[in-house]
This record gives sequence, C-alpha cells and structure tokens, in this order.
Amino acid sequence: MTGTECDNMQAGPCGILCSSCPLGSGMVAELAERTRQLIKEYKIPEWSPFAPEGKEIDWSMVDRGLGWMIKYTCCAGCESGGGPPDCAIRSCARERGYDLCSSCPDLDSCTKFDWLRDASALKAILKENRGRSKEEYIKASRSPS
Ligand code: SF4
Repeated sequence: MTGTECDNMQAGPCGILCSSCPLGSGMVAELAERTRQLIKEYKIPEWSPFAPEGKEIDWSMVDRGLGWMIKYTCCAGCESGGGPPDCAIRSCARERGYDLCSSCPDLDSCTKFDWLRDASALKAILKENRGRSKEEYIKASRSPS
C-alpha cells in the first residue's frame, strides 16, 4: 500500500460514499504514485526521446504533476472540508441541519442534485434509507444484504 490512503468511511449528504469515489477512496493519488514508480523503474525518460514525440516531454514537469496529485488529490470528504467547494447540496443540507438529504421532505423535487450524473439513482437510494442515521446508512451501503 502507498502513503495515499484517504479517510473514506464517510458519505456526503447526497448519499455518495467517499469509498466509491476515485478521489475520496485515494485511487487517483495511489495511481499517481504507482505511475511515478513505474516511470522510474522502467527508465521511461531515458528511452522516450527515441519514440515519436518523446523528445518534447518535460519529465521533470510530469514528476512534479504526479507529486502534486499524490499530495492533493486525496479528498478529505464533505464532512472534513473536502468535496466540491461550491456544492449546493452540502451547503443546503448544512443550513437545514440534515446529515443526509434522506431526512429532507423536499428531496423528490430538489433540483440541487441535477448536476450529479446519477442524480435519480442517488435520490432513490436516499429514499430507501429514510429513517437511518448517516452511520447506519454507511454501514448498510458498505455491506448490502
Ligand atoms: S433541498 Fe433537501 S434534498 Fe435538496 S439539497 Fe437541500 S437538504 Fe438536500
């Protein structure tokens, strides 16, 4: 394992589990670290000039970019200051005092989910889990019966 593990035992108020997200699970950071290792292991900068367009690659910038990804793409999760900075769902749920939007009576008609790819599926899951605390929701979602 790498040093890029995120704290992924969380879920946003939208119901997305951090463990299911490539940023929240640490997958992106982990792959960046693995790629960095493979570049070194297979000495790619040494032979890349002999392959098409390989001469133009600035490998120090590639390394810098991968280093940045290892350090900064491990999302802290909505509960810990991570997630999309301007997420309307998170700020609305916080203002209304809901840990999960499943507690909200306006969930069906809510348009704040519209920007999410799986909006209707997420709403359906949240509705199925009405009455559950966030902890119970995470537990149930991680080990579906
Ligand atoms: S209106 Fe309700 S369902 Fe929509 S984001 Fe706000 S709390 Fe969540």
